[in-house]
Amino acid sequence: MQELKEKIEKYGTVLPGNVLKVDAFLNHQVDTDLMYKVGQEFAKHFADQGITKIWTVESSGIAPAVMTGLAMHLPVIFARKHKSLTLNNNMFTADVYSYTKKTTNRISISKKYVEAGEKVLLIDDFLANGQAVEGMMEIADQAGVQVAGAGIVIEKSFQPGGKELRDKGVEVYSLAQIKSLEDGQVEFV
Ligand code: 5GP
Repeated sequence: MQELKEKIEKYGTVLPGNVLKVDAFLNHQVDTDLMYKVGQEFAKHFADQGITKIWTVESSGIAPAVMTGLAMHLPVIFARKHKSLTLNNNMFTADVYSYTKKTTNRISISKKYVEAGEKVLLIDDFLANGQAVEGMMEIADQAGVQVAGAGIVIEKSFQPGGKELRDKGVEVYSLAQIKSLEDGQVEFV
């Protein structure tokens, strides 16, 4: 998606540890026009597949997920993150290691909003090692829910998540693919 790449080039900054900071339009301030187009693009790509709901993980996935839900006229669930190891029978849970924060969070989705036989589209802001998407897939598995695929705003293709998911047969659709962040420079695939 050309407009997204231009925003990354203009506003993205590279932090140590191969982290791309895009606070200007995605992770802190949200460019709503851009995010609206992101939602339209995911909706177009995943149209006519019988998708019943959009899932994401709080908090940075919410903006693109909600725009996708709006474009597809579908509800959006954002999995909640908890530091503590709270056990709750009313929740589906999975443990997710956070690439940027270097901590493990338990993500959870209430059983109240999940029905067996549903088909969900997973959305996230970034794909690095694939932990967030894998966590949502684990919950889908527990819940008897089918996964249509994953819509990713920015994939860091030099990290293994994208390849691992595609090798498992998951349809991963990324709107920008980054080949390298070496020397503080963003290089697209
Ligand atoms: P993964 O679970 O695929 O290892 O990492 C994806 C998650 O980590 C995303 O939900 C995102 O919040 C965060 N993340 C990973 N890499 C980056 C990055 O380079 N920049 C930002 N802002 N977040 C990232």
